[in-house]
Amino acid sequence: MFANEVDTPAPLAEHPLQWRETAAPTPGAGQLVIAVAGCGVCRSNLHLVEGDWVGGGVPAISPIIPGHEVTGVVSEIGEGVSDFAVGDRVGVQPLWWSCEQCEYCTSGREQLCRQRVITGEHVNGGYGEYMLANAAHTYHVPDNLDLVEAAPLFCPGITGFGAVSKLDVGPGDRVAVFGLGGVGHLALQFALLTGAEVTAIARSADHLAVARELGAHRVFDASQADPGEALEDSFDAVLTFAPSDVVSAQALRALKWGGTLVSGVPLTLEEFHFNKAQTIKGSILGNRDQMNEVLRLASEGKVRTVVDRFPMDRAADALQLLADGRLRSRAVLENGGRPA
Ligand SMILES: [Zn+2]
Ligand SMILES: [Zn+2]
Repeated sequence: MFANEVDTPAPLAEHPLQWRETAAPTPGAGQLVIAVAGCGVCRSNLHLVEGDWVGGGVPAISPIIPGHEVTGVVSEIGEGVSDFAVGDRVGVQPLWWSCEQCEYCTSGREQLCRQRVITGEHVNGGYGEYMLANAAHTYHVPDNLDLVEAAPLFCPGITGFGAVSKLDVGPGDRVAVFGLGGVGHLALQFALLTGAEVTAIARSADHLAVARELGAHRVFDASQADPGEALEDSFDAVLTFAPSDVVSAQALRALKWGGTLVSGVPLTLEEFHFNKAQTIKGSILGNRDQMNEVLRLASEGKVRTVVDRFPMDRAADALQLLADGRLRSRAVLENGGRPA
């Protein structure tokens, strides 16, 4: 098969990602092989390819095929797989394997398993023609969803859903979403489903246009004014997905006293006023039940992805556009001509 592989992470200008022929996977017990239809391009893929996470042991193998929001069709099944058959439409999220025995795995928080294996970081991911997956972490994609459009449900979708599920908001509450890229545009829709009044805040005119299309009650152009100052003490909850300490500080300032900030990015805060009694929560992915809930909501038309399609062999170009901030929404790599 052909795939995009990284031998040694390096800046994109040095072309660390190579489209080339490599061995196709074979399924072991409890595993299956997926003929990849689509794989979303995530900022974390960029971090991996450029070597930002080498200190943290990512990538764990060399060469590695990146990519962790993957959809496709089952092409082969291993021994003992009963929930899937060849030809099934499926998807895989970043959580590729979990131990099923630790305190997290046995309490519906398997995304926090300390032994977790992440798709495309510890094992090969979806930037190729085929990918190996575990049946226990593979999901059926509803028939009415396009496989390429469904790919981002498997990282931005579950990430946005997991973040909104950490809030207790509904009609009458005011919520702000800071950062409207891949995750933000889905978190916005999950926030709207709670019945709260939702404000979308970003610097990109394209991102704000998408937010308007998706039903945001208000949009705020952060390239024109400081939203922390203009919207100080305005929101019962804020969600932030922009990897910027400046934005995190603005988000905290826009939060009401007693409100909750949920962050899906690292943050360093210079100031935290305990007397405002605010809560800060981190959020990563979600569990398997939540992933299936995301797929159900998408199937019912309650949330949708906005994608820019690229041929699979143009992964490096898609990453460059992401690095340059020139994507309108989520890039998805697709294998053309494959039955889907
Ligand atoms: Zn991702
Ligand atoms: Zn575990």
